[in-house]
Amino acid sequence: MDQRSTKSLDELRETFKSGKTKTFEWRKAQLQSLLKMVTDQENKCFQALYDDVGKSKIEAFKDEVGPSKKAVVHALSCLKNWMAPKKAGIRLLFFPAKGEVVPEPYGLVLIMTSWNYPLDLALEPLIGAIAAGNAVVIKPSEMAPATSLFLANTIPQYLDNTAIKVIEGGPDVSQQLLQQKWDKIFYTGSPRVGRIVMTEAAKHLTPVTLELGGKCPIIFDYSSISSNLKVAIRRLTSAKWGACCGQACIAIDYVLVEEKFASSLVDLLKTLVRRLYGENIETLGNISRSVNKHHFDRVCNYLKDPAVAASIVHGGSYDEKNLLIEPTILLNPPLDSVVMNEEIFGPILPIITLKNIQESIEFINMRPKPLALYAFTHNNKFKKRIVSETSSGSLLFNDVLIQYICDELPFGGVGQSGMGKYHGKYSFDAFSHEKSVLYRGYFPDLSARYPPWNAFKLEF
Ligand code: NAD
Repeated sequence: MDQRSTKSLDELRETFKSGKTKTFEWRKAQLQSLLKMVTDQENKCFQALYDDVGKSKIEAFKDEVGPSKKAVVHALSCLKNWMAPKKAGIRLLFFPAKGEVVPEPYGLVLIMTSWNYPLDLALEPLIGAIAAGNAVVIKPSEMAPATSLFLANTIPQYLDNTAIKVIEGGPDVSQQLLQQKWDKIFYTGSPRVGRIVMTEAAKHLTPVTLELGGKCPIIFDYSSISSNLKVAIRRLTSAKWGACCGQACIAIDYVLVEEKFASSLVDLLKTLVRRLYGENIETLGNISRSVNKHHFDRVCNYLKDPAVAASIVHGGSYDEKNLLIEPTILLNPPLDSVVMNEEIFGPILPIITLKNIQESIEFINMRPKPLALYAFTHNNKFKKRIVSETSSGSLLFNDVLIQYICDELPFGGVGQSGMGKYHGKYSFDAFSHEKSVLYRGYFPDLSARYPPWNAFKLEF
């Protein structure tokens, strides 16, 4: 980190100390400017997202520009209420007393983001950090350089540069930033780097939110949803290949289905995939590409394992020049293969068959806790079992991905998929300390509560 960046951090600390960022007026004005920025610069956002991962305009609006705008509008409409102290019902024992919970900003916070949703993953936490009254540094992902540059150039034009700064760079810059003392670190990315972030944060006892990843399964209870199969297949397809080509933290990673329905499921998926994305790699269209050669190779390498290659029932080809991988379906790849043990983060969909769909609970519980678990079923008893017997960041029945934009619900992981939560009011909370404040008077004043702790006090 250069001298200029270090000076920037000093400036941000001074701004926070001045109290400016704590006022309702400042927070409101910044959120309004952020909304204006995304609205005015929509086309530049689309261009940057296309340059970084080949996202189409529609996908970029649906998954990044739209959710960011929605989040800032929601924050603006709730800001006053979020900031207000919340009255605590104090029991008679403390009478006379009044208690309240007062949210206060942490101070200077660091937001580190991932490349797959490089705009929304920077702006969603930024909205929470501003709403909560913090000074902020955003470190965008170097692997989405167009969006990183867009944020670095555009944010200073719209937001208060004495309180909010973008610092660009790769892992070296991240490492240097992590050496600084922050009041909160909000990190989105891989569990591997999540560990580094948490280790560095521990040196200053800095609280962290870690938004990580992992394998997100879908339980496909084929027979119970037979009347809604068409919609179910469409949703499954969109959550694998329609979300940045599988490069989404909550994209479906693999499917669990009963053995007897596997071939019907494969046929339905193949038909839809062919219709949506073309017959083969030459005609492949409407799909995002791999972010870079490293990730392209990583995903292609899964298919080079002969046992995995033997399980391909659709697709399997790739185009190195354009970093495109054909939507690929595997049927029962070995459970000890790499593709079944790493987060795929690409357009490969393994289907794993079970004798009975109820076994899926055990299958999931034998693996790290997912960020998202999906279940397509109309069986209410089974739903209850899934809710009570599995653990995941979120659980969605009969739909996919939309939990991400549901501001009333917290978004975050558990176990290896992360810690902490955000979105809506939860974003405000992620960047606030809830201070308990108790107001008391001097009457009554009982001697029993004061030393000396003599026998008389025992009788009292
Ligand atoms: P990554 O961990 O490689 O990078 C994320 C950030 O960490 C970047 O800003 C990068 O500069 C920084 N970084 C990289 N190496 C570092 C190092 N050695 N030391 C310090 N900082 C370093 O993650 P990624 O490849 O950008 O993202 C993919 C992962 O993120 C997947 O696991 C995915 O599931 C997860 N993810 C999670 C969410 C969520 O909301 N939970 C959202 C998107 C992505």
